[in-house]
Amino acid sequence: MTTEARRVIADLKELKARTGTERGAQRVAWGPVWRDARAWFRGKVAEIGLSVEQDAAGNLWVTLAGAASSATHERVIAFGSHLDCVPSGGWLDGCLGVVTGLEVLRQFAKAAERPPVTLKLVDWADEEGARFGRSLFGSAAAAGTLKLEDVRTLKDRQGALLVDALGENGIDLDRVLEAHESFKAMDLRAYLEVHIEQGPVLEAMGKGTGVVIGTFGVERHMIRFTGQAAHSGSTPIAMRRDAFLAAAETALACREIAKRHSKPGAGVVCTVGVVDVEPKFVTAIPGACNISLDQRALDPATLAQMHREAHEASERIARENDVEVAWTSLLRIEPRPFDPRLLELCEEAVREETGEATRLPSGPLHDASEMAAVVPTVMLFSSSARGLSHCKEEDTPEPHLEATIDAFLRLVRKTVAEVAKAT
Ligand SMILES: [Zn+2]
Repeated sequence: MTTEARRVIADLKELKARTGTERGAQRVAWGPVWRDARAWFRGKVAEIGLSVEQDAAGNLWVTLAGAASSATHERVIAFGSHLDCVPSGGWLDGCLGVVTGLEVLRQFAKAAERPPVTLKLVDWADEEGARFGRSLFGSAAAAGTLKLEDVRTLKDRQGALLVDALGENGIDLDRVLEAHESFKAMDLRAYLEVHIEQGPVLEAMGKGTGVVIGTFGVERHMIRFTGQAAHSGSTPIAMRRDAFLAAAETALACREIAKRHSKPGAGVVCTVGVVDVEPKFVTAIPGACNISLDQRALDPATLAQMHREAHEASERIARENDVEVAWTSLLRIEPRPFDPRLLELCEEAVREETGEATRLPSGPLHDASEMAAVVPTVMLFSSSARGLSHCKEEDTPEPHLEATIDAFLRLVRKTVAEVAKAT
């Protein structure tokens, strides 16, 4: 293990001890423990002789200026992730990327010469959206995709407004999009992020590190089936209009659609996470049934096709069961494939470190999803033990963490060289 990776893991453990309890990490965005995590971060940055700036959306930026003697010193490579977490979350989600980025700056800051391009480490504000339900707050503001009217009235479970929580942290919602102006003013050439996988795929393949090819797009809908509630004893099976059975058949059909569209290296997923029948009596045939459907894929055409086929299946099944069906869209997110050239560099870095390079897509969204829309982006994953995340059991075997941290350092160096030589 390199001393760099050892220091990152030691820093992560220090942060865990400072901001966690026996129930897990407590760095929920905009609250006191999160602020304390950021105070810890500021201290670490000061030790390297650098300083932290907060943008209008609450993102923290640390800049290591490129050597002014270099013609490319104003080009920027940014990297980072988020210090915030879900309530009673894990010690690695988000922090791995920020603390590894700290080590990158430490290495470049102590080198005899400044890098030929400017390096920026970012700690995005409120990636998780754990308290107010709006994830990717800071990175969306920087990318210019955050809509103020969508968040102005957001409240937490206690009824507190996001606007007021922002105010407690010195952020004025009406000025949040100034973060987009300062972001655009940079000559940003690449965004790099290292994160834990938060799923079981790498572990199942026996791998510690993976090259992330992009983040899934999402089609999320509620589907309502309407039949006729009737007595469970008196109504013959053939004469029923059972909304639940139509919903259940549709759920199974959607699983078959996802299986059919899954190819090796290009898996897709779908989930029916909500099932709600009416009138909900043991002696009543369900007259109505709402189900949710969440479909995800990396390829936009595949996602659109999956959505179309699910629609058709629900209509066919509704007809067969003599019920009505209606769809309501909840959320639509574009797939975000990562930059092909950065993927090559990332693959080289992982191969040099581990002897091979596994590619996989990301099911969860990340700050990198926002960045991918506006700047060449790539991500690296470290395996997650038992695929667990967003809980205190979240962990990664240390040899896997070390290899991933070292691969990320290689990726940054390769990207610096690439951006410096670009014309
Ligand atoms: Zn995260």
